[in-house]
Amino acid sequence: MDTHHNDFKEIIKLDQENFVHPWEGLAELGKTRRTFAEHAEGIYVWDEEGNRLIDGPGGMWAIQIGHGRKEMADAIAKQVLEIPYYSPWGLSNSATSRLAGKIADIAPGDLNHVFFTTGGSTAVDTALRFVHFRNNILGKPQKKIIISRQKAYHGSTYLSATMSGKERDKGWLDQESRLVRFLPDVNPFRRPEGMSAEDFLDEKVNDLDAMITETGAENVAAVIAEPILASGGVIVPPEGYHARCLEVCRKHDVLYISDEVVTGFGRLGHWFASADVFGIQPDIITSAKGLTSGYLPMGACIISERIMADISGEHSRGASFSNGYTYSGHPVCAAAALKNIEIIEQENLLEHVRELSPHFQNRVKKLGRLPIVCDTRGMGLMGCVECSVDADDQLESDKEIGARIDEHCQKLGLIVRPLINMCVFSPPLVITKAQVDEMFDILEEGIRLTEAELRG
Ligand code: PLP
Repeated sequence: MDTHHNDFKEIIKLDQENFVHPWEGLAELGKTRRTFAEHAEGIYVWDEEGNRLIDGPGGMWAIQIGHGRKEMADAIAKQVLEIPYYSPWGLSNSATSRLAGKIADIAPGDLNHVFFTTGGSTAVDTALRFVHFRNNILGKPQKKIIISRQKAYHGSTYLSATMSGKERDKGWLDQESRLVRFLPDVNPFRRPEGMSAEDFLDEKVNDLDAMITETGAENVAAVIAEPILASGGVIVPPEGYHARCLEVCRKHDVLYISDEVVTGFGRLGHWFASADVFGIQPDIITSAKGLTSGYLPMGACIISERIMADISGEHSRGASFSNGYTYSGHPVCAAAALKNIEIIEQENLLEHVRELSPHFQNRVKKLGRLPIVCDTRGMGLMGCVECSVDADDQLESDKEIGARIDEHCQKLGLIVRPLINMCVFSPPLVITKAQVDEMFDILEEGIRLTEAELRG
């Protein structure tokens, strides 16, 4: 036990001194003591001290089929022994080709061309480079501006980060602001007092129309939007929003990219949410995370026949799409994605999510009774609880609330992902009704304890 303890002290030191984590805060560099995820099964993760924690965020909106699946390990091992890797430039392989066909089958309408990437950021990057590339071939080299939205998150490459509209992430890193315009917040709960939901919807659609007109449709290449703004705080736009925005895009000859990195692969009870939940047929869908349930890194940029047709064959002007990664269509990741899709089908996880969602959402909503909870929202197996107390320094106070809830919940057996003053939830899709109750009971207790502490 002691040896293990000492070994672990060494590991903590290596983590602190050598492992730079995403969004690393430099004030605490080398000092942050993180919890370690050392083992996981189903919806549970065990930390380095053997405490069992519910995986509230699903890794990070990703672990659809749950942790520790033996079938997945076997499928991965089998592919490694058959062919672990070969350059996708010249040669192909069966696993990736089968996966491309499967994605074309389950993606809506004519979204049949799949470009594989290493994750969500590179899927978005690829989508953006593709729409620029397409306009170059079409002889419209000035049509390059992308319209995104406040609170959007699209990734961490230079280009995908440029499209991300989370103000608090923008302080210290550069973006290429000439390429982007941001639409204002679409959160119906933030609408001006007295404004009806219908008027708010009209306003949001008009915002887009006006922005395209002002910028000049001849300069606007595409709109990029998450069906539900995920890490912006699970913001569900007003009903009918996406369909009406797509109409505006069609009117102005602007493409529509639906970023389904979070909403794809069952999170809302369907393979993709664009058509089945929001009734739209986008030109491009970007996907990652749930595609492999996070077992291996992979993303996909899925492009429609329609927008490919007018730049290929006799229309191609001899162009090649010079975009690609060593690991585009990695066979082992493809085998993991195929197995993941097979498990989702065999276990009827899409139906399961649709059946369980009303109960899940009901539990999210009920938290609104607690005094420090100022808003609750969500859809499918995505939920957000926003907390706040009035303070002179609102940001610091909000951050503290999130951190305290997180700390209490961890002690009680639940991992939450605090985003400033919000806790977001996207547990593995295999979660049962009883486990949903277990999760929200702990959260409720964690919020109550935080509230009691703040009251002093
Ligand atoms: N797009 C959306 C909507 C996301 O939520 C994320 C990540 O959270 C990304 C893109 C970036 O994906 P990745 O972190 O896999 O690069």
